[in-house]
Amino acid sequence: EAKSSGRDQYRFFSSELDKLARERRTLEQALRHALERDELEMHYQPRIDARTLDVVGAEALMRWTHPELGSIPPNTFIPIAEENGLIRPLGLWAMQQACGLLQRWKAQRRPLISLSVNISASQLADPALLDFLRDFTMHSGIDPQLLELEITETQLMENAGAAGQGLSALRQLGVRFSIDDFGTGYSSLAYLKRFPIDKLKIDKSFVQDLLGDTTDLAIVRAIMALGHNLGLGVVAEGVENFAIAHQLKLLGCDELQGYHFARPMRVEALEAWIDARQQQAGGERRQHGEH
Ligand code: C2E
Ligand code: MG
Ligand code: MG
Ligand code: MG
Repeated sequence: EAKSSGRDQYRFFSSELDKLARERRTLEQALRHALERDELEMHYQPRIDARTLDVVGAEALMRWTHPELGSIPPNTFIPIAEENGLIRPLGLWAMQQACGLLQRWKAQRRPLISLSVNISASQLADPALLDFLRDFTMHSGIDPQLLELEITETQLMENAGAAGQGLSALRQLGVRFSIDDFGTGYSSLAYLKRFPIDKLKIDKSFVQDLLGDTTDLAIVRAIMALGHNLGLGVVAEGVENFAIAHQLKLLGCDELQGYHFARPMRVEALEAWIDARQQQAGGERRQHGEH
């Protein structure tokens, strides 16, 4: 009796697992063609100076829309790409998009803001990425500090040996590095001493309930103190309302990013959003007699 129901359960689970494995293989196959079939697009989410509320940058986030499967979240397809090696060409493409955007803005004489691009550990050892960024930083006439590479502490620590070398080589070009999802990975802080890091990005899981959870508040305070004592900038991601933005500003956070300000959006929408915000800010400053 019990035995047969156990067997049924096993059959159920194993068919579920088969289904998941099949779905994953389907995605993996589709992802191999996503770039050439023009199914990828970069969206950009503004980063805001916590004190002045000016836009100081934007994070580049990859989007994949498959013609039949629809929109597939990066938390699903990035891990697949990391596993099968596709992350190198996809990540290089993302970097080229961001650099191309900076170049276009420069040609159009738009004010430049920094662009942060997420990278996976294996990209730190990708000679094509190093070559591309070397060429870009030498020939574009764009301040390399406007490029920020975001890497998670887990990615960094799981590949500490190779990562360190790649990171130094890229850092010599003048680009910046941020630790993404800070606080969720390894609790070892030794890597902060070992790697040339510029910013800590507090994970949104500590930010979203900052006002309702005293543990989150204590963690955010501690990250802020740690970052500033090390001379690093501190960014909060996942800022979803005004009250949290205000609290983060009081805590001394440098930059804010989240749905409260803007969602990730297409380039054209980002440009319109920046322009509208700039005009609005100018208007407000005039009202306060600053001009
Ligand atoms: P991440 O780098 O930590 O990016 C922040 C994520 O939080 C983004 O999710 C963003 O859309 C989301 N987010 C921003 N503000 C809010 C908010 O106020 N509330 C909430 N709930 N979420 C917010 P997204 O775009 O789905 O990306 C997920 C992750 O996928 C990224 O996390 C990053 O780790 C990875 N990823 C995305 N694009 C790339 C890429 O080009 N290369 C690599 N290697 N990874 C990428
Ligand atoms: Mg990021
Ligand atoms: Mg993050
Ligand atoms: Mg994340």
